[in-house]
Amino acid sequence: MYALERDSPPGCWAQLYESMYAKAMPIRQLSETMINQIAAGEVIERPASVVKELVENALDAGASRVEIVTAGGGLSLIRVTDDGSGIAEPELSLAVARHCTSKLSDDIHDIRSLGFRGEALPSIGSVARLSIRSRTARGDSAAEIGIEGGRVSAVKPAAANQGTTVEVRDLFFATPARLKFMKGERAESSATSDVVKRIAIAFPSVRFTLAGADRSTLELPATGDTPDGRLARVAQVMGKDFPDNAIAIDAMRDGVHLAGHVSIPSYTRANALQQYAYVNGRPVRDKLIAGAIRGAFADVLPRDRHAVTVLFLTLDPATVDVNVHPAKADVRFRDPGLVRGLIVGAIREALAGAGIRAATTGATGMMAAFRPGAAPYAHPGPTSGHRSYEAAYHASGSSGFDPSRSPHRPLDMGYSEMWPQRNGFAESEQAAFDTGPLASADTRAGTAEPAEALLGMVLGAARAQVHENYIVAQTRDSLVIVDQHAAHERLVYEALKNALHSRAVPSQMLLLPEIVDLPEEDAERLAMHSQTLAKFGLGLERFGPGAVAVRETPSMLGETNVQQLVRDLADEIADNDTVETLKERLDKIAATMACHGSVRSGRLLKAEEMNALLRQMEATPGSGTCNHGRPTYIELKLADIERLFGRR
Ligand code: ADP
Ligand code: MG
Repeated sequence: MYALERDSPPGCWAQLYESMYAKAMPIRQLSETMINQIAAGEVIERPASVVKELVENALDAGASRVEIVTAGGGLSLIRVTDDGSGIAEPELSLAVARHCTSKLSDDIHDIRSLGFRGEALPSIGSVARLSIRSRTARGDSAAEIGIEGGRVSAVKPAAANQGTTVEVRDLFFATPARLKFMKGERAESSATSDVVKRIAIAFPSVRFTLAGADRSTLELPATGDTPDGRLARVAQVMGKDFPDNAIAIDAMRDGVHLAGHVSIPSYTRANALQQYAYVNGRPVRDKLIAGAIRGAFADVLPRDRHAVTVLFLTLDPATVDVNVHPAKADVRFRDPGLVRGLIVGAIREALAGAGIRAATTGATGMMAAFRPGAAPYAHPGPTSGHRSYEAAYHASGSSGFDPSRSPHRPLDMGYSEMWPQRNGFAESEQAAFDTGPLASADTRAGTAEPAEALLGMVLGAARAQVHENYIVAQTRDSLVIVDQHAAHERLVYEALKNALHSRAVPSQMLLLPEIVDLPEEDAERLAMHSQTLAKFGLGLERFGPGAVAVRETPSMLGETNVQQLVRDLADEIADNDTVETLKERLDKIAATMACHGSVRSGRLLKAEEMNALLRQMEATPGSGTCNHGRPTYIELKLADIERLFGRR
């Protein structure tokens, strides 16, 4: 500034400088309202943040019921009613005063409540019209206090049941600049609904309702704080099909406990919004946890798909700092490496243990596509079963139903010819298929009676290969269809990975060591991890201050951008204290190799080859999905098939 003023022509800069000086005011203490509005800038970003703070207060007060009503996306009204402990009349004026809280003793490291900063209510009161009506169990009557744009009104008697009702009207009326940033009713309502869902997952024994003028309403009856109850609450929030497609996680390491559920790899989303994380019961959005989840699934999901997860971390409050940001959604772990390692390890182990399992949604969706209801004529419903089929068939002229064009006609056989055969797919009828137009060398695998033992296996006995890529197999009670290319790709990948991680990764010497200049801390961190890096084939060492010399790189990487790789690794070590990046990159290459080296669709397989593939899939963890996260097989239960044909 000084240099500019001195060197620049008189006029321009000097004038600006002077005008700034002229505006400078003497130092003075800000008013209480100004201080609260500044705090509100951070704590109260939008209506959803008000709801979050008020619901947290209700839960801290031990409520078993929390009712939320909003209007105008929360900008015109937010009302939160609870049946918690209430606020005694003489304390009402303290509740809206800054830095007044009933939750923090003298130890900032021992936080066991959701709130502790004592600034939510005064912040809201400085930017909106706030009223609090409350009654304690012992209080004879309720009392009420108001605060509008920072002006506190006198406490008045009121009528209410035990608990507290907090009403916020005209949010941001006192700070119109903030009001301009609101996104519109819909977006604000859905943010509010998200906040309530997020917190409700952690409090299954509390009943939550959210009502508003729009469609983002919620009704979450209490489910109870038992393992079943917690899962039931998760299902209320995330949908009933999540538990069917999830694996339970329960792991402990060095005093840190991780519990919850993660989706199986074939049940994914396009974004990470359905990843809920809690630290000691507090909903958090944490980069480390998100990164650990990504790392754990890196192997089984494509880059653009995301697992659905609900994870609860429980650890000594003294080993995690929640006082990072006024909104309290950020945390810092004292031992980030431990937390990351626990999450990655527990999820990977659970995925491997879950073995082979395809998403139920895939098969259900397919059944729906097959259902008679999907045919181009009105179907009276599943209960009337095959009679409607017959009726439709006999009345085909008038109903417009053409059996020969039906998507569920049996192969290419004449429809009327097949129809009277009530025992359809029974083994004795197999011969009928063999005389059909599809009988060729590659479809004959199933002509012999399948061995009884094979029928009892998860993927059953291979009976045929169709469209040169799909293996049709049979178990005692289902029909299994395997995508042979996807399955084989996965098996090759798992084998390559095993080979990769069971011994040192082969490396290649660089002709000249490559020197990478880095901030000194990064160079130091890399040097500290040099032994692990060497195991993955990356040989590096310190090269004076602020640099490392790379002498060897993993041969699998081929010609690689060493500078970029080393910098990425340094970043990761700084963030998470791990070298996952290198491992992930090597895995990715293994995946690419697997993709090129596996059985292409189109190759004809003999019966023994097909059965061998099925057995190998059963023995390989993770083989239920291909490297890109798609299922490698689907299973149709005989019962469902029979339902399709109106036999049930
Ligand atoms: P904090 O939650 O950080 O303590 P707040 O400004 O949110 O700060 O609340 C201030 C105080 O008001 C709380 O410490 C609590 O004693 C009281 N309070 C607020 N809401 C409720 C409620 N719904 N039920 C009982 N007490 C409440
Ligand atoms: Mg609070």
